[in-house]
Amino acid sequence: MRAMVFETVGQPLRMVDLPIPQPGNGEVLLRVHACGICRTDLHLLDGEVTVPSPPRVLGHQIVATKESDGSRVGVPWLGFTCGECEFCLSGRENLCALAQFTGRDRSGGMAEYCVADERFCFPIPDGYPDLQAAPLLCAGLIGYRSLRMCGDGERVGFYGFGAAAHILCQVARWQGRKVFAFTRAGDESAQAFARELGAVWAGGSDETPPESLDAAIIFAPDGSLVPAALAALKPGGTVVCGGIYMSTIPAFDYELLWHERTVRSVANLTRRDAQEFLALAPQVPVRTHVTSYPLKAANEALDDLRHGRFTGAAALTITPTSD
Ligand SMILES: [Zn+2]
Ligand SMILES: [Zn+2]
Repeated sequence: MRAMVFETVGQPLRMVDLPIPQPGNGEVLLRVHACGICRTDLHLLDGEVTVPSPPRVLGHQIVATKESDGSRVGVPWLGFTCGECEFCLSGRENLCALAQFTGRDRSGGMAEYCVADERFCFPIPDGYPDLQAAPLLCAGLIGYRSLRMCGDGERVGFYGFGAAAHILCQVARWQGRKVFAFTRAGDESAQAFARELGAVWAGGSDETPPESLDAAIIFAPDGSLVPAALAALKPGGTVVCGGIYMSTIPAFDYELLWHERTVRSVANLTRRDAQEFLALAPQVPVRTHVTSYPLKAANEALDDLRHGRFTGAAALTITPTSD
Protein backbone atom coordinates (compact mmCIF):
# COMPACT_ATOMS: atom_id res chain seq x y z
CA MET A 1 0.00 0.00 0.00
CA ARG A 2 1.04 3.59 -0.46
CA ALA A 3 1.67 5.63 2.68
CA MET A 4 3.11 9.00 3.64
CA VAL A 5 5.63 8.51 6.42
CA PHE A 6 7.38 10.78 8.87
CA GLU A 7 11.06 9.87 9.08
CA THR A 8 12.80 12.67 10.91
CA VAL A 9 12.18 16.19 12.22
CA GLY A 10 12.48 18.92 9.63
CA GLN A 11 12.01 16.62 6.63
CA PRO A 12 8.85 16.42 4.54
CA LEU A 13 6.77 13.24 4.67
CA ARG A 14 7.90 10.60 2.20
CA MET A 15 5.69 8.45 -0.01
CA VAL A 16 6.61 4.81 0.47
CA ASP A 17 5.23 1.36 -0.33
CA LEU A 18 4.47 -0.67 2.77
CA PRO A 19 2.91 -4.08 3.31
CA ILE A 20 -0.77 -3.96 4.25
CA PRO A 21 -0.72 -4.10 8.07
CA GLN A 22 -2.06 -7.15 9.88
CA PRO A 23 -4.52 -6.56 12.72
CA GLY A 24 -3.57 -7.99 16.11
CA ASN A 25 -5.85 -9.00 18.96
CA GLY A 26 -8.77 -6.58 19.33
CA GLU A 27 -7.74 -4.69 16.22
CA VAL A 28 -9.41 -4.20 12.87
CA LEU A 29 -8.03 -3.62 9.39
CA LEU A 30 -9.40 -0.46 7.81
CA ARG A 31 -9.42 0.74 4.24
CA VAL A 32 -8.88 4.51 4.51
CA HIS A 33 -11.05 6.87 2.46
CA ALA A 34 -10.08 10.22 3.93
CA CYS A 35 -7.70 11.51 6.55
CA GLY A 36 -7.87 15.02 7.94
CA ILE A 37 -4.72 17.01 8.49
CA CYS A 38 -4.23 18.82 11.78
CA ARG A 39 -1.93 21.41 13.32
CA THR A 40 -0.62 18.62 15.55
CA ASP A 41 0.90 17.08 12.40
CA LEU A 42 2.93 20.29 11.99
CA HIS A 43 4.10 20.05 15.61
CA LEU A 44 5.25 16.47 14.89
CA LEU A 45 7.07 17.53 11.72
CA ASP A 46 8.75 20.40 13.55
CA GLY A 47 9.76 18.31 16.58
CA GLU A 48 7.63 20.34 19.00
CA VAL A 49 5.81 17.11 19.81
CA THR A 50 7.95 13.95 19.61
CA VAL A 51 7.28 10.93 17.41
CA PRO A 52 8.76 8.21 19.67
CA SER A 53 9.74 5.62 17.08
CA PRO A 54 9.87 6.81 13.48
CA PRO A 55 9.33 6.03 10.69
CA ARG A 56 5.63 6.53 11.31
CA VAL A 57 2.56 6.99 9.13
CA LEU A 58 0.93 10.21 10.40
CA GLY A 59 -2.76 11.15 10.32
CA HIS A 60 -5.32 10.98 13.12
CA GLN A 61 -8.64 12.01 11.60
CA ILE A 62 -9.34 8.79 9.76
CA VAL A 63 -12.52 7.95 7.89
CA ALA A 64 -12.44 4.35 6.74
CA THR A 65 -14.39 1.16 6.23
CA LYS A 66 -13.75 -2.01 8.16
CA GLU A 67 -12.51 -4.72 5.82
CA SER A 68 -14.45 -7.28 7.89
CA ASP A 69 -17.99 -5.92 7.47
CA GLY A 70 -17.77 -2.78 5.32
CA SER A 71 -19.08 -0.50 8.07
CA ARG A 72 -17.84 3.08 8.04
CA VAL A 73 -15.91 4.27 11.07
CA GLY A 74 -13.74 7.13 12.23
CA VAL A 75 -10.53 6.85 14.21
CA PRO A 76 -9.39 9.80 16.32
CA TRP A 77 -6.12 10.86 18.00
CA LEU A 78 -6.71 8.66 21.06
CA GLY A 79 -5.94 5.17 19.78
CA PHE A 80 -5.38 3.08 22.92
CA THR A 81 -5.60 3.39 26.71
CA CYS A 82 -4.63 0.93 29.44
CA GLY A 83 -8.08 0.77 31.05
CA GLU A 84 -6.60 0.13 34.50
CA CYS A 85 -4.87 3.26 35.78
CA GLU A 86 -6.38 5.90 38.09
CA PHE A 87 -7.13 8.12 35.08
CA CYS A 88 -8.75 5.39 33.01
CA LEU A 89 -10.84 4.33 35.99
CA SER A 90 -12.08 7.84 36.72
CA GLY A 91 -13.36 8.91 33.30
CA ARG A 92 -10.09 10.65 32.39
CA GLU A 93 -8.55 8.22 29.94
CA ASN A 94 -7.31 11.23 27.99
CA LEU A 95 -4.62 11.49 30.70
CA CYS A 96 -3.61 7.79 30.72
CA ALA A 97 0.19 7.52 30.88
CA LEU A 98 0.09 4.43 28.65
CA ALA A 99 -2.18 6.03 26.05
CA GLN A 100 -1.18 5.59 22.42
CA PHE A 101 -2.01 8.23 19.89
CA THR A 102 -2.99 7.59 16.30
CA GLY A 103 -0.46 8.87 13.79
CA ARG A 104 2.21 9.28 16.48
CA ASP A 105 2.56 6.10 18.58
CA ARG A 106 0.43 3.99 16.24
CA SER A 107 0.46 4.20 12.48
CA GLY A 108 -2.16 6.62 11.20
CA GLY A 109 -4.38 7.25 8.22
CA MET A 110 -2.14 8.85 5.62
CA ALA A 111 -2.11 5.48 3.88
CA GLU A 112 -4.41 3.21 1.91
CA TYR A 113 -4.91 0.93 4.92
CA CYS A 114 -4.40 1.10 8.64
CA VAL A 115 -5.03 -0.97 11.71
CA ALA A 116 -6.93 0.37 14.72
CA ASP A 117 -8.00 -0.85 18.15
CA GLU A 118 -11.67 -1.64 17.64
CA ARG A 119 -12.61 0.12 20.91
CA PHE A 120 -11.40 3.39 19.41
CA CYS A 121 -13.36 3.18 16.15
CA PHE A 122 -16.57 5.21 16.07
CA PRO A 123 -19.47 5.00 13.64
CA ILE A 124 -19.56 8.04 11.32
CA PRO A 125 -22.95 9.77 11.46
CA ASP A 126 -25.12 9.44 8.36
CA GLY A 127 -25.18 12.44 6.09
CA TYR A 128 -21.45 13.14 6.27
CA PRO A 129 -19.50 12.18 3.15
CA ASP A 130 -15.98 10.87 3.93
CA LEU A 131 -14.25 14.18 3.27
CA GLN A 132 -16.72 16.21 5.35
CA ALA A 133 -16.53 13.71 8.22
CA ALA A 134 -12.74 13.80 8.55
CA PRO A 135 -12.39 17.08 10.47
CA LEU A 136 -15.02 16.00 12.97
CA LEU A 137 -12.51 13.50 14.36
CA CYS A 138 -9.97 15.88 15.88
CA ALA A 139 -10.94 19.49 15.20
CA GLY A 140 -14.49 18.54 16.18
CA LEU A 141 -13.84 16.17 19.08
CA ILE A 142 -11.06 18.00 20.87
CA GLY A 143 -12.69 21.31 20.00
CA TYR A 144 -15.88 20.07 21.62
CA ARG A 145 -14.00 19.07 24.75
CA SER A 146 -12.46 22.58 24.82
CA LEU A 147 -15.89 24.17 24.45
CA ARG A 148 -17.19 22.07 27.34
CA MET A 149 -14.36 23.43 29.51
CA CYS A 150 -15.70 26.93 28.84
CA GLY A 151 -18.69 26.24 31.10
CA ASP A 152 -22.03 27.83 30.33
CA GLY A 153 -20.84 31.34 29.55
CA GLU A 154 -22.75 33.11 26.81
CA ARG A 155 -19.89 35.05 25.24
CA VAL A 156 -17.03 32.92 23.98
CA GLY A 157 -13.95 33.97 22.06
CA PHE A 158 -12.00 31.77 19.64
CA TYR A 159 -8.37 32.73 19.06
CA GLY A 160 -7.41 31.21 15.72
CA PHE A 161 -10.28 30.55 13.33
CA GLY A 162 -9.27 27.34 11.59
CA ALA A 163 -10.63 23.80 11.45
CA ALA A 164 -11.67 23.54 15.10
CA ALA A 165 -13.16 27.03 15.43
CA HIS A 166 -15.19 26.73 12.23
CA ILE A 167 -16.89 23.65 13.70
CA LEU A 168 -17.18 25.00 17.24
CA CYS A 169 -18.64 28.28 16.03
CA GLN A 170 -21.63 26.35 14.70
CA VAL A 171 -21.99 24.31 17.90
CA ALA A 172 -21.70 27.37 20.15
CA ARG A 173 -24.32 29.27 18.14
CA TRP A 174 -26.65 26.27 18.32
CA GLN A 175 -26.16 26.28 22.09
CA GLY A 176 -27.30 29.90 22.13
CA ARG A 177 -23.90 31.48 22.68
CA LYS A 178 -22.33 34.51 21.04
CA VAL A 179 -19.03 33.86 19.27
CA PHE A 180 -16.22 36.38 18.97
CA ALA A 181 -13.60 35.30 16.42
CA PHE A 182 -9.97 36.42 16.61
CA THR A 183 -7.67 35.81 13.65
CA ARG A 184 -4.20 36.88 12.60
CA ALA A 185 -4.27 40.68 12.24
CA GLY A 186 -5.51 41.55 8.77
CA ASP A 187 -6.73 38.04 7.85
CA GLU A 188 -9.91 39.30 6.29
CA SER A 189 -10.89 36.06 4.60
CA ALA A 190 -10.87 34.18 7.92
CA GLN A 191 -12.81 37.03 9.54
CA ALA A 192 -15.42 37.02 6.78
CA PHE A 193 -15.65 33.21 7.07
CA ALA A 194 -16.26 33.53 10.84
CA ARG A 195 -19.05 36.05 10.28
CA GLU A 196 -20.63 33.76 7.66
CA LEU A 197 -20.69 31.00 10.25
CA GLY A 198 -22.47 33.23 12.72
CA ALA A 199 -19.76 34.96 14.74
CA VAL A 200 -21.20 38.24 16.10
CA TRP A 201 -17.78 39.85 15.83
CA ALA A 202 -14.52 39.04 14.06
CA GLY A 203 -11.24 40.90 14.30
CA GLY A 204 -7.51 40.60 14.83
CA SER A 205 -6.13 38.91 17.93
CA ASP A 206 -4.60 42.25 18.90
CA GLU A 207 -8.05 43.87 19.03
CA THR A 208 -10.36 44.31 22.00
CA PRO A 209 -13.77 42.69 21.46
CA PRO A 210 -16.85 44.92 21.86
CA GLU A 211 -18.03 42.94 24.91
CA SER A 212 -16.05 41.21 27.66
CA LEU A 213 -15.94 37.42 27.29
CA ASP A 214 -17.10 34.68 29.66
CA ALA A 215 -14.55 32.29 28.18
CA ALA A 216 -12.03 32.01 25.39
CA ILE A 217 -10.44 29.08 23.61
CA ILE A 218 -6.97 29.51 22.14
CA PHE A 219 -6.49 27.26 19.12
CA ALA A 220 -3.44 29.04 17.69
CA PRO A 221 -0.12 27.74 19.11
CA ASP A 222 0.95 31.20 20.25
CA GLY A 223 1.62 31.71 23.97
CA SER A 224 1.32 35.49 23.70
CA LEU A 225 -2.41 34.94 23.16
CA VAL A 226 -2.82 33.80 26.79
CA PRO A 227 -2.41 37.26 28.37
CA ALA A 228 -4.32 38.77 25.42
CA ALA A 229 -7.27 36.44 26.03
CA LEU A 230 -7.15 37.00 29.81
CA ALA A 231 -7.40 40.73 29.18
CA ALA A 232 -10.61 40.16 27.19
CA LEU A 233 -12.29 38.12 29.98
CA LYS A 234 -14.87 39.10 32.56
CA PRO A 235 -14.14 38.30 36.23
CA GLY A 236 -14.53 34.56 36.79
CA GLY A 237 -13.84 33.79 33.13
CA THR A 238 -11.76 30.94 31.72
CA VAL A 239 -9.09 30.73 29.05
CA VAL A 240 -8.85 27.23 27.55
CA CYS A 241 -5.67 26.34 25.64
CA GLY A 242 -6.94 23.83 23.10
CA GLY A 243 -3.75 22.75 21.36
CA ILE A 244 -1.09 20.15 22.12
CA TYR A 245 1.74 22.69 21.89
CA MET A 246 2.08 26.41 22.45
CA SER A 247 5.07 28.73 22.32
CA THR A 248 6.26 30.13 25.67
CA ILE A 249 3.63 32.13 27.51
CA PRO A 250 5.11 35.55 28.32
CA ALA A 251 5.12 36.84 31.92
CA PHE A 252 2.06 38.91 32.77
CA ASP A 253 0.76 40.92 35.71
CA TYR A 254 -1.25 39.08 38.33
CA GLU A 255 -4.03 41.58 37.76
CA LEU A 256 -4.90 39.72 34.52
CA LEU A 257 -5.56 36.52 36.49
CA TRP A 258 -7.09 38.22 39.55
CA HIS A 259 -10.85 37.97 40.14
CA GLU A 260 -10.90 34.23 39.78
CA ARG A 261 -9.96 34.03 36.14
CA THR A 262 -8.66 30.60 35.11
CA VAL A 263 -6.15 29.40 32.53
CA ARG A 264 -6.27 25.69 31.66
CA SER A 265 -5.25 23.27 28.95
CA VAL A 266 -7.23 20.53 27.24
CA ALA A 267 -5.38 17.30 26.51
CA ASN A 268 -6.54 14.73 23.98
CA LEU A 269 -10.05 13.30 24.24
CA THR A 270 -11.97 10.47 25.84
CA ARG A 271 -14.19 7.97 24.06
CA ARG A 272 -17.12 9.68 25.76
CA ASP A 273 -16.20 12.97 24.05
CA ALA A 274 -16.25 11.12 20.72
CA GLN A 275 -19.64 9.51 21.35
CA GLU A 276 -21.19 12.78 22.53
CA PHE A 277 -19.82 14.93 19.76
CA LEU A 278 -20.57 12.50 16.91
CA ALA A 279 -24.17 12.32 18.19
CA LEU A 280 -24.43 16.09 18.45
CA ALA A 281 -22.86 17.07 15.10
CA PRO A 282 -25.82 15.95 12.93
CA GLN A 283 -28.28 17.65 15.29
CA VAL A 284 -26.71 21.10 14.89
CA PRO A 285 -26.11 20.20 12.04
CA VAL A 286 -22.39 20.94 11.78
CA ARG A 287 -21.35 21.60 8.17
CA THR A 288 -17.63 21.29 7.57
CA HIS A 289 -15.75 23.26 4.96
CA VAL A 290 -12.99 20.96 3.70
CA THR A 291 -10.29 21.44 1.08
CA SER A 292 -9.29 18.11 -0.48
CA TYR A 293 -5.80 16.94 -1.45
CA PRO A 294 -4.66 13.59 -2.85
CA LEU A 295 -2.49 11.41 -0.58
CA LYS A 296 0.68 12.25 -2.50
CA ALA A 297 0.07 15.97 -1.84
CA ALA A 298 0.13 15.60 1.96
CA ASN A 299 3.18 17.86 2.24
CA GLU A 300 1.48 20.53 0.17
CA ALA A 301 -1.62 20.29 2.38
CA LEU A 302 0.52 20.67 5.52
CA ASP A 303 2.37 23.61 4.02
CA ASP A 304 -0.94 25.28 3.12
CA LEU A 305 -2.10 24.74 6.71
CA ARG A 306 1.09 26.30 8.05
CA HIS A 307 0.62 29.38 5.88
CA GLY A 308 -3.13 29.74 6.30
CA ARG A 309 -3.87 29.18 2.61
CA PHE A 310 -7.31 27.63 3.09
CA THR A 311 -10.26 28.46 5.31
CA GLY A 312 -11.83 25.77 7.47
CA ALA A 313 -10.30 22.30 7.36
CA ALA A 314 -8.34 20.14 4.92
CA ALA A 315 -8.19 16.40 4.37
CA LEU A 316 -6.50 13.87 2.13
CA THR A 317 -8.81 11.90 -0.12
CA ILE A 318 -7.38 8.40 -0.48
CA THR A 319 -8.48 6.33 -3.45
CA PRO A 320 -6.92 3.03 -4.49
CA THR A 321 -5.86 3.96 -8.01
CA SER A 322 -6.22 7.58 -9.00
CA ASP A 323 -3.09 9.14 -7.50
ZN1 LIG B 1 -5.50 16.78 15.64
ZN1 LIG C 1 -4.77 4.19 31.74
